Amino acid sequence: MQNQMIYLDNNATTKVAPEVVDAMTPYFSENYGNPSSLYDFGAQIRRVIEEARGQVADHLGAKSEREIVFTSGGTESNDTAIHSALESDPNRRRIVTTQVEHSSVRNLCQAIEKKGCGVAFVGVSKTGALDWEAFERAVTNDTAIVSIMWANNETGVLFPIERIASYVKSKGVLLHVDAVQAVGKIQVRLKNSPIDYLSFSAHKFHGPKGIGALFVREDAPFLPLFVGGRQERDKRAGTENVPGIVGLAKAFSLACERTLPQTSGIEHLRNHLEQTLLAGIPDSFLNGKDEPRVPNTTNITIPGVESETLLIRLSQAGICASSGSACLTGALEPSHVLMAMGHSRELAMSSIRLSLSRYTTEEEIEEALNIIPRVVSELQKFNRTETGIIS
Ligand code: PLP
Repeated sequence: MQNQMIYLDNNATTKVAPEVVDAMTPYFSENYGNPSSLYDFGAQIRRVIEEARGQVADHLGAKSEREIVFTSGGTESNDTAIHSALESDPNRRRIVTTQVEHSSVRNLCQAIEKKGCGVAFVGVSKTGALDWEAFERAVTNDTAIVSIMWANNETGVLFPIERIASYVKSKGVLLHVDAVQAVGKIQVRLKNSPIDYLSFSAHKFHGPKGIGALFVREDAPFLPLFVGGRQERDKRAGTENVPGIVGLAKAFSLACERTLPQTSGIEHLRNHLEQTLLAGIPDSFLNGKDEPRVPNTTNITIPGVESETLLIRLSQAGICASSGSACLTGALEPSHVLMAMGHSRELAMSSIRLSLSRYTTEEEIEEALNIIPRVVSELQKFNRTETGIIS
């Protein structure tokens, strides 16, 4: 066990399920036709894509498979939704989003802001809950779109999407939900929901990288981000990523069959990991405490222990974990999510995220619980020695 890797970074990406690899393989080898070709070898592939689209629509409870557009992943889906809303109504030049979005939305909104569009970045509480009053004030008559995440990639905190959706719709504004960390982890049903656009990405639920989709409500305005060929019913130009589309649909089916019925097991393991770490590491605390969260994620601050050093030491001990800190222009920047939750720079750079999957075993969690407190204690001892406080 000691020399094996313990992968606790499933919010970054997941292992592709073997069944997904099997489903994809023929579309690299014998079934390599272009779906746009007229001959049967191509037309067969077109049918495979439509079957996959139908499965995805069913899993989401969409009204029609026409509401699913395959993209290259979460980032492209997010960009497409925001672009669509802004381009479809030139009189509305405002976006409402939050301070804790994934960089794909955050950086896009900052870039759009520089071009003269208004952007409201709504804040959150110390526990990561949406500042509801600020949110209500932010949604004005000239708002083109509200773009908001369902589950936070760093803390796992869930925003109240139903409440958000009914408020946004009551204001006559378009709603985009970045559900990249929600799909495959919690039930996402769009049947009676007024959500206009919803993004997701296969590599977060045991599918391949480089494939995702955007749900676009039938009557929501749409303008393609990629213009060119007539693929995806003119919604996304470019030859389709056939193995990716097959893999996404298979991974989504497996998530519905296996992960969703198993969430209490994953949550149980996560809670055991979290509670044991919090109890054993002095002064440590949970980010997102008392908020609804996805079942697989925990984010813990360990004051006085730099996450970068901790992650390197954990990696040497065989554990893959991460922090929200990002390496920008050569220097480690604190997590914008934890900063928005009111952490100081030091605390925001002393946090780790551990994220589980349906493949995480009890043995792995027990082994992680042997390793993490020991590594933390060594680092704390070293820090006390360095700062002259020798215990
Ligand atoms: N949105 C969220 C919340 C994410 O966590 C991620 C990836 O980590 C993305 C969007 C981007 O997805 P992709 O990697 O498929 O572009």
